[in-house]
Amino acid sequence: MTARPVLVVEDEPKLAALLCDYLRAHGFAPHAVADGPTALTLFAELQPAAVLLDLNLPGLDGVEVCRALRRHSNVPILMLSARVDEIDRVLGLEIGADDYLCKPYSPREVVARVRALLRRADGALASPRAAPGCRAVGGFMLDDGGLRAWWRDVALPLTPVEFQLLRTLLQPPGRVFARASLLDAIYTDFRDVSDRAVDSHVKNLRRKLQAAMSGHDCIAAVYGVGYRLDMPDDRDALAS
Ligand code: CA
Repeated sequence: MTARPVLVVEDEPKLAALLCDYLRAHGFAPHAVADGPTALTLFAELQPAAVLLDLNLPGLDGVEVCRALRRHSNVPILMLSARVDEIDRVLGLEIGADDYLCKPYSPREVVARVRALLRRADGALASPRAAPGCRAVGGFMLDDGGLRAWWRDVALPLTPVEFQLLRTLLQPPGRVFARASLLDAIYTDFRDVSDRAVDSHVKNLRRKLQAAMSGHDCIAAVYGVGYRLDMPDDRDALAS
């Protein structure tokens, strides 16, 4: 099997070289760039399987690079940063990154996270409706093993976190879920992420569901508590 390309966006040359060495040793084909604009150019050419993205970059910072990539790609993005405060952690998640590591991190940990992201993404990219484990919840079809979801045969381009969020909100539809329980469902290892991260993921999930449902908004915010997903009735579905 050919090595899968991974884009490494890191402006510290020694760190970039170390990451590339580790990735190469574990069967990937890393390509390092030191600034945001070059990252976007190379991303288009390379179509990498995953992106390691330093938050603090010259020119275009990691936040802007992540936003730009998310406009047209669901590529797994692992954010890396030396700034450990809560704001940056939330920021990394709000802008659509899939996972986050703070410096100093071990390259071994980075490789493990990349592999985990790729396993989930591979499940999401496999051919639709082929998985025997798919189950229907109302008009949704969920593939829990592959982290894929469809709304009435329309594939939903969800990130792994958004899939977990949708799956939770459907257990069962109409139930109100507190932000804290949604957070527990989507991050098993990120206990210090703020509630705001949930809000931003819900916002993204809502946007994607609306796109598949011709503008119908099925997620309701319940003031002071959290969120509820109301299953669209047949009339809504027929209108779409
Ligand atoms: Ca940096």
